[in-house]
Amino acid sequence: MFRARLILLYSHLSAFGYMLNPSCIFCKIAAGEAPANIVYQDELVTAFRDIHPVAPTHVLIVPNKHIQSVSHAEAEDEQILGHLFTTARKIAEMDGIAAGGYRSIVNTGVHSGQTVFHLHMHLIGGQHLKYPMG
Ligand code: 5GP
Ligand code: ZN
Repeated sequence: MFRARLILLYSHLSAFGYMLNPSCIFCKIAAGEAPANIVYQDELVTAFRDIHPVAPTHVLIVPNKHIQSVSHAEAEDEQILGHLFTTARKIAEMDGIAAGGYRSIVNTGVHSGQTVFHLHMHLIGGQHLKYPMG
């Protein structure tokens, strides 16, 4: 049933001409063509649990459209970029970590540690997180 809804959303995305990169794992997850534990999806973003979680909640929120990184985002992508944050808040509430606090991280480029070159926000929480970063 959920898969059927994903397929429907994918045809909807294709119909609107979203750029999907067939060799990109996060494009495949957003399109329902690769397995993932999806916790939320709408017309702009898909959120799924990280395969190697670093905290009790570790969710990746990705645009359905293929954008390589923040460095590749255009002015027309501003709605998507803002939506990553409001989706993070929604999932934090769903996972019961909003009150305790959480971290939203977007790595950009090799020096930051970005390893998957499809823009994504890490939502991490559910425990007291280490600080400082860098
Ligand atoms: P980055 O280092 O690029 O900011 O983060 C990439 C994240 O994607 C890592 O935390 C990694 O564990 C996660 N990841 C990589 N491949 C997959 C995958 O196929 N499925 C899921 N769920 N997470 C992945
Ligand atoms: Zn992609």
